[in-house]
Amino acid sequence: MRNISLLGSTGSIGTQTLEVARQNPDDFCIVGLSCRSNVDLLFEQIKEFKPRIAAMTDEASAMMLKERLETEAPEIMTEIISGEDSPEVIATIDEADTVLGAMVGFAGLKPTYEAIKKGKDIALANKETLVAGGDIVMPLVKEKGVELLPVDSEHCAIWQCLWGEKKEDLDRILITASGGPFRGKSREELENVTVENALNHPTWKMGGKITIDSSTMMNKGLEVIEASHLFGVDVDRIDVVVHPQSVIHSMIRMRDGSVLAQMGKPSMILPIMVALYYPERGPRLLEEFDPFCEACSNLTFEKCDTDVFRLLPLAYEAGRKKGIMPAVMNAANEIAVGRFLKGEIGFTDIERTVYEVCDLFDGKNVKREEMNLELILEVDKEARARALEVNLK
Ligand code: NDP
Ligand code: MG
Repeated sequence: MRNISLLGSTGSIGTQTLEVARQNPDDFCIVGLSCRSNVDLLFEQIKEFKPRIAAMTDEASAMMLKERLETEAPEIMTEIISGEDSPEVIATIDEADTVLGAMVGFAGLKPTYEAIKKGKDIALANKETLVAGGDIVMPLVKEKGVELLPVDSEHCAIWQCLWGEKKEDLDRILITASGGPFRGKSREELENVTVENALNHPTWKMGGKITIDSSTMMNKGLEVIEASHLFGVDVDRIDVVVHPQSVIHSMIRMRDGSVLAQMGKPSMILPIMVALYYPERGPRLLEEFDPFCEACSNLTFEKCDTDVFRLLPLAYEAGRKKGIMPAVMNAANEIAVGRFLKGEIGFTDIERTVYEVCDLFDGKNVKREEMNLELILEVDKEARARALEVNLK
């Protein structure tokens, strides 16, 4: 039995994690839940999983949740907490063995960091944590001797391919990308895309922020940096391979030229299970993989058009520069994506914002060894403020 604290329980990854727990009640116990403001769904989750404690960062929502529990389910003993720091409490409760990080964005860094400090194993979907904080998270993982289990599907694939291999035998990582909804489009065509177009991902159903990141290819840029931290390789040893069928979830090339790939349906259930059952294998929850299915009849591979999707080369640049630059890029992107989703800026303004903010910080970089949590929090805050000031006209 593994005790799990789940950060971001009401989101796409959070609900799929609870589906895994629902199907395997003898293997997992949910001891903590946390979200931002989704009262209805958290109420249902608390009734079903009866965690010891649950948190909402939004105070007013937490009040509503408490009232509902008192009137509609007074038998439930779950303690409800609230506030900006509440995910940290959920991430560090004594009962939890593993923390599944499925909050969206930079907000996941601090709770993840505190959980590692307390010796928790981390199953990590929240890639922004490693992009902004990989330089402090990875050494802490090593120091505390905890497991950092990748949930992002590409990283889960790479990780599985590496099982039993020697680190020095790894030559390159080939990270696959669906290409998103705008693959093949020109820059002119991108100028006019709407929020609805951008949210229409061809192969994956995910939360809003990552879906927009997939449409700009920033998601792949974030994933390249995430992989460089997880597997200890420079970004220049990672290639992006656009593979629109999303059947191969990533590949590794070994010293002798062998290429290993992990394949399967585009579903996050499997990566979640691989992480939560590690080092064992869990039961099969998905339909069997069928190599004769339509998606498999024509597996294709192409390069990303980096003249159109310019956030990908920018992410490589930030990954090469290291230090604070990935955190700056991530913060600017979070602000720009949020504004695009609210209809405040256009699609290509996301790229403009991120480029401009990164330019502002260029020359202010610090060495990897000088990175610490306070500095990253400060840089994130400042980059967000700068991103809000970018003049887009
Ligand atoms: P969603 O937007 O679907 O869910 C986000 C969750 O985090 C919700 O529970 C939300 O609560 C909570 N949340 C959001 N902001 C905050 C905050 N500031 N403080 C506390 N809680 C917060 O996201 P996804 O599930 O799609 O993605 C989660 C993470 O996993 C992201 O980092 C993403 O990049 C990564 N990921 C996702 C994949 C996917 O298939 N969805 C695949 C690979 C990685 P509420 O509902 O109340 O707003
Ligand atoms: Mg991914």
